[in-house]
Amino acid sequence: MVASARSCNPVRIVFIGPPGAGKGTQCRRLSRELAIPHISSGEMLRATRDDSTLGELVASYIDGGQLAPDDLMMQFIIERLRQPDCDSGYLLDGFPRTVNQAEMLTAYLSERDQRIDSVVNLILHEDVLVQRLLARAGVEGRADDTPETIQARLKVFRDRTEPVLGYYRNCGIVIDVDAAGTPDEVFGSICGSLRSSDGESPQG
Ligand code: AMP
Repeated sequence: MVASARSCNPVRIVFIGPPGAGKGTQCRRLSRELAIPHISSGEMLRATRDDSTLGELVASYIDGGQLAPDDLMMQFIIERLRQPDCDSGYLLDGFPRTVNQAEMLTAYLSERDQRIDSVVNLILHEDVLVQRLLARAGVEGRADDTPETIQARLKVFRDRTEPVLGYYRNCGIVIDVDAAGTPDEVFGSICGSLRSSDGESPQG
């Protein structure tokens, strides 16, 4: 399948989608399939939550449903991308979330003669997103899955992250995927689209 997408060269894929669209679920699966790391910016930030000054600062952004500052986020990402396991490519889940972050990522990659190959855009109606996030709150107990914070995060997505799609559409690398199906169906769509964008027949 999509394994062909990384048979010769490293493949670097960005996942964009509103909270609750299934980025984490799909990235975990694709990461296994392609044997490349899944880098979740949200997970990275949650891992820094502690009683240090930085940890408390990060927690205040997450708990308020607001974005951490671009420069701080970029520092975390660069540190992660420097790890040797990223030489074979990676999936970025939740980064970049602003046009400024996307520009910083492009600049960082360009200096190394690298680029993002594909951007998977997971599309789902807001009503369904809210239902999913509230259901997840019951299971995972994430502090930012409350009704108020969910609304704040959706607004941040509309205002700050949707323009990132425009940025990547100008590069012609965005793959739009309907995220309303089951995880298996959505995964099938992602793989089919990545194969097509890689120049292969979707059945190949
Ligand atoms: P996520 O797990 O991707 O839903 O991210 C959880 C929270 O982490 C977000 O609501 C933001 O507060 C923060 N966050 C994650 N990724 C970024 C990013 N690229 N830029 C700024 N803040 C981020």
